[in-house]
Amino acid sequence: MENSNILTIKNLKKYFFTQKGIVKAVNDIDISIKEGEILGLVGESGSGKTTVAYTVVGLYSPTSGEIIFRNQNIGNEGKNRSIKLKQEIQIVFQDPGTSLNPARNIYQILEVPLKVHGIKNRDKKIKELLQTVEIPEDYIHKYPQMIGGGERQMISIARALASNPSLLILDEPTSALDVSIQAKIINMLLQLQKNFNLSYLFITHDLSLMRNIASTVSIMYLGKICESAKCKEFFEKPLHPYTQMLLSSIPVLTDAEEDIKPKKVKSIGEIPSPVNIPSGCSFHSRCSKKMDICSKEDPIMAEISAGHFVRCHLFKQIEL
Ligand code: SF4
Repeated sequence: MENSNILTIKNLKKYFFTQKGIVKAVNDIDISIKEGEILGLVGESGSGKTTVAYTVVGLYSPTSGEIIFRNQNIGNEGKNRSIKLKQEIQIVFQDPGTSLNPARNIYQILEVPLKVHGIKNRDKKIKELLQTVEIPEDYIHKYPQMIGGGERQMISIARALASNPSLLILDEPTSALDVSIQAKIINMLLQLQKNFNLSYLFITHDLSLMRNIASTVSIMYLGKICESAKCKEFFEKPLHPYTQMLLSSIPVLTDAEEDIKPKKVKSIGEIPSPVNIPSGCSFHSRCSKKMDICSKEDPIMAEISAGHFVRCHLFKQIEL
């Protein structure tokens, strides 16, 4: 039997009203994550992926749309979510240097969520959390600024695990770290996902990272999802011109990978400002395949094969 959805996002919009105009950071997206699945949400800086993360975790309230956790619509609860919900959905931020309180030692950092969620036997639980993330017990007296960046991120992960969550939002959890430590953190996250049957919304700008990690990959561009597919199909049959542009620029290790990689697609310009989103298809100002219709009409998301969705005038919806 197929797993049910742990998270379903429907028509989610998050707009910011600024002096320069309306920033449509998230502009009508749909996402679903099954229990125990890893969904990779990939995009360049400014695509809106971190806004999705903060909205799902309740740091931002949606402008409109639904965020359904299991069967409960939690979108309108924002920061007023119940303790039980906060326990279930946790986030690991990009930069552990700023997300850990420098005035607290490791024991105190890990004790906070245990107190908030009413978890007893805290000394024992803190030892277990440190063991889980392979940090020595005697680190409890250290402060974040006394340990390395990788160790700080492991403490952030331990803090997120303290409430026994089901869904972790991982917001670029390795991008602020040295390359040497990134693989260790990724392997640890994969092991934890298996051990605790966690579901991950894994936010990243690093598409190549998703190849061996994600069950499903979704690409975000200027507040919208432009392509989404199961991982294998995504990497073997990328269709959206933006996906092809991203994939053509990632390094490969083997000839087999080189064979399926799209031929080099020239990258045109930078991602436009989300205050001035181009008309029609928002990618048209950078797309080498653009047609007349592209600057006039915004394409709709079409399912072009089972579970493979593309938002581009080049592709049409299949009969299902
Ligand atoms: Fe390119 Fe047009 Fe497709 Fe947009 S709709 S990605 S501009 S071909």
